[in-house]
This record gives sequence, structure tokens and C-alpha cells, in this order.
Amino acid sequence: MDLNLDGFSPQEVEEVKRSVFITTLEQVKGWARSSSIYPVTFGLACCAIEMMGVGAAHYDLDRFGSFFRPSPRQSDCMIVSGTVTKKMAPILRRLYDQMPEPKWVIAMGSCATAGGPYVKSYSVVKGVDQIVPVDVYIPGCPPNPAALIYGIHKLKEKIRYEARTGKKVI
Ligand code: SF4
Repeated sequence: MDLNLDGFSPQEVEEVKRSVFITTLEQVKGWARSSSIYPVTFGLACCAIEMMGVGAAHYDLDRFGSFFRPSPRQSDCMIVSGTVTKKMAPILRRLYDQMPEPKWVIAMGSCATAGGPYVKSYSVVKGVDQIVPVDVYIPGCPPNPAALIYGIHKLKEKIRYEARTGKKVI
């Protein structure tokens, strides 16, 4: 969006361009939301150990403004880290339903993405996107904490893009 600066002196135009920016409320909300993603503390299997690693001192997820929350009602992101069994699926869905809008889901690892090594098991869901809508998929068995941080950054990009364009990315 351009400012109408007719009638201003060149010095004033320069000053305004340096000090003023115009945006939309949606973009500010997108910026704020993407800068403070709070994942719910929720792990399912071996991938959860790598997820815990991002919160520890070495990877230090806090520096990106993300803190794990112990309640779905205080969270806006679910990181599905591990094997989703058919028995666990309704519980996972209930936790998701308890999270306030807007909310996002990251499928971490090949189990959450598509069943992983248990793809032939009768008891395993072949991808958590059959239970909840997934925003970001992270491959690997398991993906390391750096890959999860990359996935969280991809989610931030997605949130900002959707706020900027008004388009939903699926
Ligand atoms: S993807 Fe691999 S490491 Fe992750 S939960 Fe499945 S078996 Fe475990």
C-alpha cells in the first residue's frame, strides 16, 4: 500500500518513509500468532523424545517464542510426534477439539505422516491427517530436533502467508 505524500517536502517524504509503515490488522495478527506458537505437551512414541529435545538447552525452542503448554486450552499447535494407534485416535481428536481457534497441527515423523514402520499393522492409523487437519509434515524416523524447528518455521511462514493473502494453504 502506497502513502499519498502530495504536498510534503522531500525531507518530510524521506522522514515519513523511514518512520511509518502501513499494514492490515490481519497481518499484525498473523505476525503475532506466528511469533508465539504454543504447542501442547503431547507425545506418542519415540519421536516424542526428539520433540522433547527442542525444549532443552541445546536446541532451545524458547528463543523462537514457542513454549510447550500443559493444557490444550492454552495451546494453538499440536505436534503429533509418534505412532497414532486406533485406540489413541479419539483421544487425540478430543484434545484437538479442546484447543481454541486458530490452531495448527504438525505431523512429526513417518508414523504420524503415514503409519511409518507400522504401516501394515491392524492397530495403527495410516497418517494423523485421517483424524485432524495437518498443516506441516516432517519426514524421518525420527526427524531430529533441528528438523522439527525447521517445520515450526515453515508453519510460521504459512501463518504469515495466509494472513497476508487471505488464502488458506492446504
Ligand atoms: S517415525 Fe520412527 S522414531 Fe518416530 S515414532 Fe515412528 S518408529 Fe518411532
